[in-house]
Amino acid sequence: PTRITDELGIALSNLADSATGVLTPTLRLGVTGLSRAGKTIFITALVHNLLTQGRLPGFAPLAEGRFIGARLAEYPDATIPRFAYEQHLAALTANPPVWPESTRRISQLRLVLRYQSAKWWSGMAGPATLNLDIVDYPGEWLLDLPLLGLSFAEWSADALARARLPGHADEAGEFLAALEGTDMLAPASDPEAERLAAAFTAYLRRSREHGALSTLPPGRFLLPGDLEGSPALTFAPLPPPAGPVRRSSLHAMLENRYEAYKDRIVRPFFRDHFARLDRQVVLVDTLRALNAGPAAVSDLETALTAVLACFRQGEANMLLRPFSRRIDRILFAATKADHVHHTSHDRLEAILNRLVANAARRARFAGAQTRSMAIAGIRATGEGTIREHGETLPTLIGTPLAGEVLDGASYDGSTEIALFPGDLPERPDSLFENGTPVALNFLRFAPPARLERNAAGDPVLPHIRLDRALDYLIGDWMA
Ligand code: GDP
Repeated sequence: PTRITDELGIALSNLADSATGVLTPTLRLGVTGLSRAGKTIFITALVHNLLTQGRLPGFAPLAEGRFIGARLAEYPDATIPRFAYEQHLAALTANPPVWPESTRRISQLRLVLRYQSAKWWSGMAGPATLNLDIVDYPGEWLLDLPLLGLSFAEWSADALARARLPGHADEAGEFLAALEGTDMLAPASDPEAERLAAAFTAYLRRSREHGALSTLPPGRFLLPGDLEGSPALTFAPLPPPAGPVRRSSLHAMLENRYEAYKDRIVRPFFRDHFARLDRQVVLVDTLRALNAGPAAVSDLETALTAVLACFRQGEANMLLRPFSRRIDRILFAATKADHVHHTSHDRLEAILNRLVANAARRARFAGAQTRSMAIAGIRATGEGTIREHGETLPTLIGTPLAGEVLDGASYDGSTEIALFPGDLPERPDSLFENGTPVALNFLRFAPPARLERNAAGDPVLPHIRLDRALDYLIGDWMA
């Protein structure tokens, strides 16, 4: 849903990027996922491991002894917030450690990587440099991209049809009542617009608390970023007008705001950030969905398919294609893999693979590679075994966060426990066929305390398969 002017703008900025890229190649890596999927942890862990040359045996440049080092550099675009790496790391390495604040808006960070290429001529050329630009943004914002192709009337019809579904009465009742009681053809009034928008936002929030993810645009209503309280976010879907709509009416006011939201918020995000990525990692809290039951799993599948449909693969205008950037690799990562025993990691990967199957097929068709992995940016658990009823069960060892409750036991944040997390199904299809929920013992754990230190005195952050994820995402650019 781009206009030719957008395409031109994108092509020009990409051309500018390539011009500077002649001096130093720049790989733009997008990191996304729905709220609390693990973006902040993933990026913090990735950056820390690169800066301190952590344990990354699966990352070829390091394993082959070609990685020279990394440093943080100033981000070229001063208008975009910087990813608060230092703050996040400080939280994770505090005593006691705490989980840092999650992603609420877009932010970026530039790492400069120095390495020796493995190519035969590289001996003459000396060490090479790669700028790695990491762009962190809420997955909710991606769900807005389809709005670009919808008029106010079309979007309203979709949104109201959903709100009126029989199962949604609890969540949407107040909003629908507010609509009933409002005369849309009356003169525009800010308080009225705010009242409707507030009722609509409350409905979206409630629906998300009940586990819905997929059908909830506008994304900024849930994660406003810097737009909290801005008039750009005061609109709501309306039923078709009962009579002629005057330009000064409430209906016209909300319609204009919807159009402004698309033009001033959604389109620029797409053009300035999203359309300029080379690689993308989509983080998915698969375990939480599994634990919440079959409805959450199928909702997650719909959300991921919708998110992936937004990636621009192979649809550029013919003339501009040579200047277009394309996402050529997408990594789907099931995060928090440290919540299951390592013997379940392959199963977790298989389940994620099944969840993204539709989305991935489309991406591959358009020429992008995809892969699914189970990872933990930061590993908060160790492993052990317990014997129960004469059976040996694999367990996780960790400290549940204060307030966590399982099987009637509640935890105060200071007790280390051994927990049998349960098994994931061997065949992912079984999740979809008979809709039986997976009974996992799922607790949130505190970040690891008593971190080891490396020779330089830096803390070593334990992870699961972060090295392989990194190798897939950037390894070939450092070949
Ligand atoms: P986002 O930035 O909203 O995508 O999410 P965060 O990165 O802030 O993660 C949300 C929460 O999930 C964190 O506060 C942690 O409690 C948990 N979490 C994220 N990644 C991991 C991980 O690798 N292991 C464990 N055990 N918990 C994680």
